[in-house]
Amino acid sequence: MNEFELIERYFNWVSYHSVDLSVGDDCAIIDTNSNTQIVTSVDTLIEGVHFSQNTSAADIAYKALAVNLSDLAAMGATPKYFTLALTLPELNEPWLSEFSESLKHLAEEYQIDLIGGDTTKGALSITINIIGEVETGKALLRSGAQVNDLIYVSNTIGDAAYAWQQIDQGNKPSDFYLNRLNRPKPNVELAQQLVGVANACIDISDGLEQDLSHILSRSKVGANIDIEAIPLSDEVATYIDTTQDWCVALAGGDDYELCFSVSKEKINKVTLIEKELGITLTNIGVVTKSQGLKIKGLDKICQSYQHF
Ligand code: ADP
Ligand code: MG
Repeated sequence: MNEFELIERYFNWVSYHSVDLSVGDDCAIIDTNSNTQIVTSVDTLIEGVHFSQNTSAADIAYKALAVNLSDLAAMGATPKYFTLALTLPELNEPWLSEFSESLKHLAEEYQIDLIGGDTTKGALSITINIIGEVETGKALLRSGAQVNDLIYVSNTIGDAAYAWQQIDQGNKPSDFYLNRLNRPKPNVELAQQLVGVANACIDISDGLEQDLSHILSRSKVGANIDIEAIPLSDEVATYIDTTQDWCVALAGGDDYELCFSVSKEKINKVTLIEKELGITLTNIGVVTKSQGLKIKGLDKICQSYQHF
């Protein structure tokens, strides 16, 4: 049983309240009596799993909040509030000061309020629950992909996994790659622009192959993607050229780029968004009726990140 089967079997329950979307997407959506819906998600970061012992307090804080912002972004929602559950091995003031400064800095950037939390002693772990809102019915879901939609990804893919790999091999990645790993920029602005344009959306936290597959299974469609079309940064392109290790782009998580599908009639809007935000959005394939993900140019299966 993998992580997703575990969740499905033990924690996917019926709702007693007006929950529009529950377990299974990047966030849950709760109805209110107004024309907006509440969107919420929670993510935990654990030492040794999500970051190494050498990661600075500032980087840990940044990433803990950024990954949550990314889940809200994946829904096209506006982040508003968050709570922080902190488990610390000791009361280390310099560490706490650095952690809190960094967290506050990112919270300021996105104008979100820390409204509560919990503090306990134990192995270092950080849990953030983020809460935001979206206009009723407008959220970007994993389940909206339509046959013949074009599939896009933002910026470049595989940079964070490449950085991990470099560190693992005892090399020091350049600042660009370290930042891609430790300081992923949540695509909040992009996702908001994609509301009304994209049919389905997910943030790539576990690897393109696995995360795109979540869109496909929730939308009950398939896809053909062209491996050569996946946008790569220079070093990653050179690395793949020499090693043919495409898994760094297909199964490497932690990029927090968006993967979304758009109907052909709306691709001019994608071009406009690209220009306005000064980012690249690349078409990597198409949604098909026959289910499953087919990757043109790949002859082996990559293992995306799974906790179990
Ligand atoms: P993401 O990678 O976008 O953060 P996850 O893969 O962690 O999403 O989770 C997949 C879905 O399962 C989400 O909708 C999440 O809310 C839900 N989920 C994960 N763990 C649990 C749990 N223990 N109980 C209930 N729902 C869960
Ligand atoms: Mg997500």
